[in-house]
Amino acid sequence: MTSRTAGGCRSCGTLTVVRVLDLGDQPVADELCADAASAVAAPRHPLSLGACQRCGLVQLDPSTPIVPNATHGHGSAFSGTVLEHEHRWAEELLALPNLSRPARVLDVGSESGGFLRAFRDAGHAVRGWERDGTLAANARASGIPTVQLDGNRHREPGQYDLVLVNHTLSHADDLDGAVRSLSDVLAPDGVLAVEFHSALGILEDGQFDVICHAHRSYLSLTALTAAFDRHGLVVLRAWPLPLHGGVIRLQAARAGVGRRQDGSVTELLAVERVAGLGSAEAWVAVAEQATRIHQQLYSVLAAHRRAGRTVAGYGAPSRGTTLLNYCGLGSAEVPRTADRSPLKQNHFLPGAAIRVCTPEELFVDRPDVLLVLVWPLRNEVLLQLADLRDAGTRFLFPLPEPEEVT
Ligand SMILES: [Zn+2]
Repeated sequence: MTSRTAGGCRSCGTLTVVRVLDLGDQPVADELCADAASAVAAPRHPLSLGACQRCGLVQLDPSTPIVPNATHGHGSAFSGTVLEHEHRWAEELLALPNLSRPARVLDVGSESGGFLRAFRDAGHAVRGWERDGTLAANARASGIPTVQLDGNRHREPGQYDLVLVNHTLSHADDLDGAVRSLSDVLAPDGVLAVEFHSALGILEDGQFDVICHAHRSYLSLTALTAAFDRHGLVVLRAWPLPLHGGVIRLQAARAGVGRRQDGSVTELLAVERVAGLGSAEAWVAVAEQATRIHQQLYSVLAAHRRAGRTVAGYGAPSRGTTLLNYCGLGSAEVPRTADRSPLKQNHFLPGAAIRVCTPEELFVDRPDVLLVLVWPLRNEVLLQLADLRDAGTRFLFPLPEPEEVT
């Protein structure tokens, strides 16, 4: 068993984490502010990435303080692409052999319980674990039994036939402890179904904007395999998908229960090895790309401003806050950004102090240029806002390289 020493890797605990990318001091990306003044004054904390030279885990610098409220959801209820993606995953999991009978299904980081509904409707006994009290209460109100758990580690005992972990592990400050607790609650013949944003996608597309204080780790199959191995778990199959700019799904089980690993695991491990995920050299290109995007976006938006064109943003995701603050962009360059979530509207992005408006406002007061902060949903955005584009608004996608679509 490992325990995390000061400055040690969040997974294997060793003092072998080297810094690979530094984004300077940044506000907490999901802490939207009630007014512009508090957004400007939002506290900033160091934001830098390191890579463990032993287990390969890419992570926030181990000395980064735990920032209160640095948690977030993924806005899944407001994107058709994401909902469809979850729906297909649920259908696939419902076909697992150990779900052919009524089963116990746990969702770790269950938000409002949306993902569990398909399992409940199929007759399984579902349970959600959620740290956010409001989300847990919403889930319970909609008939999904949900317990609110505190802290980094989940302590509620139990045995589950299927344990769902969608984009939750990256939030664990102590990744080793989080994996141990998953192993503790998995029934002997249970299946662990994990989806995570792949560090490979960040590396290959230079997605430095996804880095924020809430994500303590940027996971890979390589790093998770090492963590699972310490706790008697084995990955059976793993495959990449394009959502959010690159996610990996995997199914794992207890080692030694007769299930066989298929070729997809060794294949994906080889891809990560070739990309050099855990090496500082591989990340040099991401740092260079971040600098380049900073300069290009700033000058493109300055040119639009000089030409008298109006600019708005689209989306208020945490990645947008990281991008805008890193690039030194604020309300002078982007006075407002539209988001479909009522929880975000009429608030201000921390640091950048950009007001979040409704999407309808863009149709009333059409901007000449739309900076798409939710750029991984490119096709969905172009479809949703086709009327704006037809009316002459230019769509500016900031990553992987700044590109305007007219
Ligand atoms: Zn490590």
